[in-house]
Amino acid sequence: MTRIQSLFRIAGLAIAAWVNAPVCAVESRPNIVLIVADDLGYGDLGCYGAKGYQTPNLDGLAASGRRFTNFHVAQAVCTASRVAILTGCYPNRLGLSGALGPGSKIGLHPEETTIAEVLQQRGYATAAVGKWHLGDAPQFLPTAQGFGSYFGLPYSNDMWPRHPEARPGTYPPLPLMEDSRVLKADLQPADQEQLTTEYTERSVRFIESHRSEPFFLYLAYSMPHVPLYVSSKFKGKTERGLFGDVLEELDWSVGQIVETLRRLHLEENTLILFTSDNGPWLSYGDHAGSAGAMREGKGTSWEGGTRVPCIVSWPGHIPADSTSDTLLMSIDLLPSIAHIANAPLPPKKIDGMNVWPLLTGTDAAHPHPAYFVYYGRNELQSVLTPEWKLVLPHTYRTLGGTPGGRDGLPARYSQVKMSGPELYNLRNDPSETRNVAEQFPAPLQELLELAEKARADLGDDLTGKKGSGVREPGRL
Ligand code: MG
Repeated sequence: MTRIQSLFRIAGLAIAAWVNAPVCAVESRPNIVLIVADDLGYGDLGCYGAKGYQTPNLDGLAASGRRFTNFHVAQAVCTASRVAILTGCYPNRLGLSGALGPGSKIGLHPEETTIAEVLQQRGYATAAVGKWHLGDAPQFLPTAQGFGSYFGLPYSNDMWPRHPEARPGTYPPLPLMEDSRVLKADLQPADQEQLTTEYTERSVRFIESHRSEPFFLYLAYSMPHVPLYVSSKFKGKTERGLFGDVLEELDWSVGQIVETLRRLHLEENTLILFTSDNGPWLSYGDHAGSAGAMREGKGTSWEGGTRVPCIVSWPGHIPADSTSDTLLMSIDLLPSIAHIANAPLPPKKIDGMNVWPLLTGTDAAHPHPAYFVYYGRNELQSVLTPEWKLVLPHTYRTLGGTPGGRDGLPARYSQVKMSGPELYNLRNDPSETRNVAEQFPAPLQELLELAEKARADLGDDLTGKKGSGVREPGRL
């Protein structure tokens, strides 16, 4: 056993007793509000250093709870990331990766278990509001995956004939859905301007009508994914321009949710989680967010792609005004939520673990036995431990220091082909500026061995390996 594995094992044993103990500390069924922004980068909130606009409600949410500075999505692109958030699995374990297009022949397999299904077993009312993107066929939609109701877009708002980047004939008209039916068949720019407002109103209405029973609200904003749209309430308000206006509207929306919970005296019985599905889409320049000090952005396995804001608030259960730099990944949300709702875990193998003690700050030991992995589609690109990050040789996209696009049009990425594995010490160098593979051969070797383990389980297109633990996606 290597040194890294031993450390994880000791920590794992220490926490195993806690995890396996009967859940008696939390008998209640708190409401869960899980909010996911789209393409919002690590540096895009005031409390994470954003400039040029204000996010007082999200900063206030962080002040009422805990702000995580080392929280990662499983894959830095929409569909794949959302699979991990909702199922606790690496997306490629479930045969999904990248971003599904309209009319996709595959989607999240209905036999996989979502957070909504976990909570439905415990009597929760469930709703999905916003972008789905786990398959737009009826059997893949939220209403077939544990959500009692659904309102929103079935996939990204740029998969739209009116998007400036869309070649004619690429996309069908973009629908707005209610449950499994089409509410509006052909979204217009004026409709996109109202999306954040409508998502907010639907969410508030759901909370109000389920105030006397436990509920789970999954609110997945379409913004700030391009093309950016904002209502007249916020248009032209910030010095940052349209991106800042959009962020201020998202912040307003979160404020409306928090205010509704306060008005209904539900604050003390509601866990709110806010995060993003991946980092900023940097080629869009002034219409893209910021990864702060992190390297690169969306669509890469560098920290700017995978490390996103994460705020968790539950007054009385999570210490106010606290921050944590513990390494966490979105696959841990399902088992942690199952824990606090005293609900059984999905019957099939999942990758996430209950990190509730880390979310509350009561226990610093990490339950994960070994490591996290980042795939880009089915390429194993990176392996992560709390201290080290191995980046395996692959080709990634970058602006390479050239400016991004302007006014909604993207600049072109160039492709960089790496020549060998690189090693970064994320504790000292979270921006991934110094490859220390030559100076630290022992951890390099340990992480290369972990990569082999991951390949055996999940496969790897870069080395042509098939994984034994991969399941089939849902197919039409
Ligand atoms: Mg996204």
